Amino acid sequence: MNPKTATHSIRGNIQRALLIYTAAVIVLLWVGQIVLLKPFYQVMQRITVNAAGEKLLRGLSTQSDEDFAALLETLCLRHNMSALVLNSEGVLIASQDMLGGRSYLTGRRLDEVAKLCEPVLLGEQQTLLGETGPEKGATLVFAGRTTGTDGQPRVLILNALESPVESAVGILKLQLFLILIFLLFISLVISGIVSRQLVSPIRAISARAKRLAQGNYTADYSGAGITEIEELAETLNFSANGLSHVEELRRELVANVSHDLKTPLTMIIGYAEMIRDLTGDDKTKRDENLAVIIDEAQRLTGLVNDLIAVSRDEMAAGETRPEPIDLAAMLQELVGRFSATLPEYTVTADCCGDCVILADRTATEQVLYNLITNAVNYTGSDKAVSVTARPVEAGIRVEIRDTGAGIPAEQLPLIWERYYRSRNTHQRPVAGSGLGLSIVRSALERQGFAYGVESEVGEGSCFWFEAPRATS
Ligand code: ADP
Repeated sequence: MNPKTATHSIRGNIQRALLIYTAAVIVLLWVGQIVLLKPFYQVMQRITVNAAGEKLLRGLSTQSDEDFAALLETLCLRHNMSALVLNSEGVLIASQDMLGGRSYLTGRRLDEVAKLCEPVLLGEQQTLLGETGPEKGATLVFAGRTTGTDGQPRVLILNALESPVESAVGILKLQLFLILIFLLFISLVISGIVSRQLVSPIRAISARAKRLAQGNYTADYSGAGITEIEELAETLNFSANGLSHVEELRRELVANVSHDLKTPLTMIIGYAEMIRDLTGDDKTKRDENLAVIIDEAQRLTGLVNDLIAVSRDEMAAGETRPEPIDLAAMLQELVGRFSATLPEYTVTADCCGDCVILADRTATEQVLYNLITNAVNYTGSDKAVSVTARPVEAGIRVEIRDTGAGIPAEQLPLIWERYYRSRNTHQRPVAGSGLGLSIVRSALERQGFAYGVESEVGEGSCFWFEAPRATS
């Protein structure tokens, strides 16, 4: 994205995400600790007071007075409760008060408890759990009836606070506030560290990519150990290498083409000047000089044709239009052309049986033309070139054979490279551009045809390709 239109930085995004996360944690804690604290506490308190009441009732009916007094004290202390134990006449046998002024088991508020506990006191109900009014905060009252160790009835009344103490809620709120501040601080620090780890390598890569755009093709991108950025760096390294290769080819092309254009042009100008100044009136010499000019002009035409073929090849980029081609007719026409322009050469074409192939017409013509031209250029003193086409398992095999010096085995893989030219001089004065075989290779590979060369030094070469037969 264009930095001018970008609105979110990596750092900003991480900060936002962490802030949302912090807010979610705080909301969850708030709901759990503050909003639900009271109802949760109330449920737990009912369960606790009920369980303590049941336990004390069992103690009353089974334990000695001292043991029961100890149990009563322990439980009242542990659960912050007040307790009264009465006999059948309503006389107080034991008591505990851990609530102080907030207890309903002392003073005038005892009436309210007595009224609440009536069903137990009158023996209508064994146990009950009730609530007193909201004065000074609601409290829980447990009342239970049992029989003491002396066989007399006993009544136990417990009183505990029903809601958590306000101060506890206040402390929790303060705690949450402190946690919030801490989490905010931590998220800022984390976002700072993470974004620095991510942003620095990206910035470094982008600075280098700018240099790449300015023509610096050094492939030294690194992703600082972060997988995705490593992948990006690898892609850029790959592109930088590719661009540098293309740049190398471009330089090579310019150098080759300028050299190849300059040599024949210099010759043409030189010989033309010679005709004008010296040999213009001497028919024999003038014709000789004109022949050189025509040869060089032909060389120029060949070079330009090759360049046109290369650029057409690049533009086509894999596009082929296969159609049935009668090889016999195509070869006849090509051989006729060669025989007309180079009468001193014997170029023969021989088709064995029905040779209709399925291939791209322009590409096939180009392949045959380039291979026959090379064969003519490199053939031996007998100046013979033969083209044959015969059916094989894969389709039709076309072979272009010459009787020249052949190609040394170590050069065979190189000759298909663009601009490759062996140091051997051509038999004919018309030199090539070093593009011919690379055009052949590309045209055949685009169509998926098998191709190759068999060559023996001193014996000659045989270039071949195999095209599928057209099913009629
Ligand atoms: P050029 O325009 O130089 O012929 P090509 O790409 O057509 O370029 O061929 C590349 C090289 O392959 C040639 O320079 C030559 O060394 C070798 N070569 C191609 N065809 C033949 C052949 N029929 N006989 C011997 N060498 C050949």
